[in-house]
Amino acid sequence: MTAQGHFIFGLSCAIFAKKIEFFRILYLGEWGHVISGCICTCLLPDIDHPGSFLGRKISWISTTISKIFGHRGFTHSLFSLLFFYILIFSIPSIHDVLPLDFSYALLLGYFSHILADTLTPSGVPIFWPLSKRLCIPILSSNNLKREKKLCLFFLLISILYPFDEFSIFKYFIDLQLIKDIIKNVYNVLIDFFKI
Ligand SMILES: [Zn+2]
Repeated sequence: MTAQGHFIFGLSCAIFAKKIEFFRILYLGEWGHVISGCICTCLLPDIDHPGSFLGRKISWISTTISKIFGHRGFTHSLFSLLFFYILIFSIPSIHDVLPLDFSYALLLGYFSHILADTLTPSGVPIFWPLSKRLCIPILSSNNLKREKKLCLFFLLISILYPFDEFSIFKYFIDLQLIKDIIKNVYNVLIDFFKI
């Protein structure tokens, strides 16, 4: 996925997470903290690719990580998310300075990148170092228009949610279709974790 796609998808995740009660700290957090935290890290996993948006800015780090782990290896796994969590919450000088909602938004931004890459044909090695890849290939690798449309669709859904507040949009959005998509994604994930 492109940097632009990750940016829009990360923004969608931030808005959605701020609106649902599932992540209480983000739900009660400040809009500015949640959105800025998410945006800060939504491109971070691609630091393992020297040609990526972030990789080009700090090429010496990205070249090193790329040589050690390869692209879409460690940095695109739950293990790296755990590593990032430990990094934020175990170093006093970091978690004493950053607001709690911003810290969790940093994690959400990172996770949003991994989640977005699962939508591409090559997927992500979610349980790295195991090679099995999680992949829900609703995006093709070179259809940038489709990627942008889908990311903007997610953004629209996150802005309009909960739909009851914008009753006029009910006429434009097929709620049943959205429910079906969520159900299908859920079933794919359940099947994946069963194996
Ligand atoms: Zn990536």
